[in-house]
Amino acid sequence: MTQSIVLQLQQLRQQLEEYSYQYYVLDNPSMPDAEYDRLYRQLQQLEAAHPELITADSPTQRVGAAPISKFGQVAHSISMLSLDNAFDAGEFHAFSKRIAERLDASAEFSFCCEPKLDGLAVSIRYENGLLVQAATRGDGYTGEDITSNVKTIRAVPLKLKGDKVPAVLEVRGEVFMPLAGFTAMNDKARSEGEKIFANPRNAAAGSLRQLDPKISAQRPLMFYAYAVGAVDDVSGLLDNHSHHQRLMQLKDWGLPVCPEIRLVSGGEAALECYQDILTRRAALAYEIDGVVIKVDNLTQQQALGFVARAPRWAIAFKFPAQEMLTSLLDVEFQV
Ligand code: NAD
Repeated sequence: MTQSIVLQLQQLRQQLEEYSYQYYVLDNPSMPDAEYDRLYRQLQQLEAAHPELITADSPTQRVGAAPISKFGQVAHSISMLSLDNAFDAGEFHAFSKRIAERLDASAEFSFCCEPKLDGLAVSIRYENGLLVQAATRGDGYTGEDITSNVKTIRAVPLKLKGDKVPAVLEVRGEVFMPLAGFTAMNDKARSEGEKIFANPRNAAAGSLRQLDPKISAQRPLMFYAYAVGAVDDVSGLLDNHSHHQRLMQLKDWGLPVCPEIRLVSGGEAALECYQDILTRRAALAYEIDGVVIKVDNLTQQQALGFVARAPRWAIAFKFPAQEMLTSLLDVEFQV
C-alpha cells in the first residue's frame, strides 16, 4: 500500500516539476493551468494524508523555479512567496475559519480584494526615490536581474513622486500584457508571418526575460503594484496598519495600482467582490485568473505568518477554468 503511494507521489512530483520547468523557465507551458492545478491539488491531498512522505523538494514546498544563469541574480531580502488557492466558496470559508481560529477573533475581518493578475511577479527597488534594481520572483529567495527591461515599462516610475520618499522601498507587483496590446502584437506578427504568443501571461514573461532590453521596450507591458517588500522609511507615511492604505500610499508616490482593488468588511462581502469581478472579467483590459483576498490588517498578517510557500493571511480564489489545452497546442509562440 505505502509502496504504491510512494510511487504515485514520485510520479506526480516528476510530472509537476517538468510542467513547472516549461512554464517558469522556458515560458512555454505544455499544459493548461487548470490541469496543472488539478494535479497539484492531488499531490497536496496525498501529502496531507501521508505527511511523513513529504520531501523538501516537493513542488508543494517550493516557489516557482530557480533563476536561469543568463541573467544576474538578485537575493530577495524578504522572500517572494506564492499563494494558497481556493477553488470554491467552501474553500474560502475554510480559509476564513482558519484565520479566525488562529487569531482567536470573533469580529469580522477587513479583507483587501485584488484581481489576480496573470503575469509575472517582480520586485522593484527604489533608493531615495530612484529605481535602482528590478528582479523576478525566481524561486522566492533569488530572482533574475531584469532592471534594464523593467525600466522600459512606461508605467513604472524611474523616480518616485513627492518630497517624502523612503530611503529604501521595495515594491512588489505584477508585470502583465494588457489584452489590446497582446492582440495588436499577435496581429502584426501574424501578418508578417512570424510566430505568435499563446497567451498574454507567456507574452509578458517572454518579453520581460529578454537579454536585450530594446526588445522588451517594444512590448506593450504594464505593471500594477500589490505589496511592499523591504522598506526603510522615516517619513511615517507607511506606518499604518492597513495593507490597502499602503497601496494607496504607493499610488501617491506615482506607482500604478489596480483600480479594481476593494477594501471590504467580512467574508460575505469578500465573496460578493469575487462574484462582481468574475462577472466583469471579460470586460477588463487584462487577463486575470481569480481574486486574491488578503487580511488587510498588517498586525494580523504578522500574527498569522507563513506556511512553507505561502502566507496564511491571503488566498487566491481562482476563477473556473476557461482555457483549453487545444488553444495552447494549436499555437506556436516565441519567447
Ligand atoms: P499563483 O500564480 O497561484 O499565485 C502567486 C502569484 O500570484 C504571485 O507570485 C503573483 O505573481 C500573482 N499575483 C497576481 N496578482 C496578485 C495580487 N494582487 N497579490 C499577490 N499576488 C498576485 O502561484 P504561482 O506559484 O506563481 O504559480 C502557480 C500557478 O501557475 C498554478 O496555479 C498554475 O496555474 C500555474 N502554473 C502552470 C503550469 C502549466 O504547466 N500550465 C506550470 C506551473 C504553474
